[in-house]
Amino acid sequence: TKRQGETISKGHKNYELMLNLQLGIRHSVGRPAPPTSLDLRSSAFDPKEKVWTKFPSEGSKHTPPHQSCEFKWKDYCPLVFRTLRKLFKVDAADYMLSICGNDALRELSSPGKSGSFFYLTNDDKYMIKTMKKAEVKVLLRMLPAYYNHVRAFENTLVIKFFGLHCVKLTGPAQKKVRFVIMGNLLCTEYPIHRRFDLKGSSLGRTTDKPETEIDATTTLKDLDLNFIFRLQRAWFQEFCRQVDRDCDFLEQERIMDYSLLVGIHFRETTPYTREARNTEGRTSGVRTPTGNGDPDSDGTAPRLSRADMDQLPFDPARWESIKLGINMPSQAERTVRRSDCEFQLIGEPTGQLYDIILFFGIIDILQDYDISKKLEHAYKSIQYDPTSISAVDPRQYAKRFRDFIFKVFKEDS
Ligand code: ATP
Ligand code: CA
Ligand code: CA
Repeated sequence: TKRQGETISKGHKNYELMLNLQLGIRHSVGRPAPPTSLDLRSSAFDPKEKVWTKFPSEGSKHTPPHQSCEFKWKDYCPLVFRTLRKLFKVDAADYMLSICGNDALRELSSPGKSGSFFYLTNDDKYMIKTMKKAEVKVLLRMLPAYYNHVRAFENTLVIKFFGLHCVKLTGPAQKKVRFVIMGNLLCTEYPIHRRFDLKGSSLGRTTDKPETEIDATTTLKDLDLNFIFRLQRAWFQEFCRQVDRDCDFLEQERIMDYSLLVGIHFRETTPYTREARNTEGRTSGVRTPTGNGDPDSDGTAPRLSRADMDQLPFDPARWESIKLGINMPSQAERTVRRSDCEFQLIGEPTGQLYDIILFFGIIDILQDYDISKKLEHAYKSIQYDPTSISAVDPRQYAKRFRDFIFKVFKEDS
């Protein structure tokens, strides 16, 4: 399978920044700390407590000598993030090894429009995203509520944050780079064949890539979606409950512009029909030939037998290894859009089914409905249907998002 991104080696324009980041993380995470309790005091969330650590090249009492330029390092709410890592069961040594081990990070080629840079650790477990100052502000503002939410709901789909930091380059420019470390939602031994970033809005919601260049690493959008997903009953119910809770949380925090990122692993390349599935031994049933745009297969993924799949929902022991959104066996049904309906968000079901493993979560949750988003809403509304625009107030955003998600995800029946 194709690896995403470009390795940052010596000579890369962000090589020094990567070294700084690795030195900083090692310093923050490696430092001995007293055992933390999950009950944090409100002072832990105080963003005003600013501690900059200086990293001179020759080293200091608390920092090692290094090959990079001199810089300063800041951890935001270190105790909160340390506790979050504990809550998310991230071992400090493994975390440091993923981010600061000998292997370099990889830089993704601008996956978003916002101008943020994205880095992946070599083991694919973590994604590092550079942040605007406003996004840092939003995260710090919502951190107490975020903490309570992820603590209360183990199955939350909201992205996991593990650390928030800033590197300040010394010298005349004093450039600041802020970044957040989060989980890579699509880190799995199952190759991801298709990925969709879904918001529930339609304006501009197609990939800008020509069809011939679309592959497993392309992020497709709402209007590119040609599937609905069928979840087994118990999971579907838990999924609906959790989407509701997560949307309520984001609405309360006045957040909008987030998406559900969905990664699909196809267990087979050829679809089967519902009739074939309902009559026993569907593998010998009717098969339709592989249509255009079907996922590539590479046969390297672990396999579950059909009987295994059917047993899963009734076998609580096996639930242990399956988490909501992380590796859920389910089905994708292909849909087709009517050609006369340009902005139809969801096509008509075709009855062609694929067995898939699904991965998903809610990402990009640090945009509040600020003046720039209100203006965007105002000027785009002049030309377009206001309900098609991504920028709407958090309440409408959550409602539209949820309505859309519940049309895309269905109970398997
Ligand atoms: P914009 O604001 O224009 O949407 P952005 O710069 O804020 O863009 P994101 O929406 O956060 O970027 O992410 C862009 C893409 O990067 C996503 O569509 C997804 O493909 C990928 N991505 C982001 N976060 C994650 C994550 N935690 N795990 C896996 N992939 C991710
Ligand atoms: Ca986004
Ligand atoms: Ca964004």
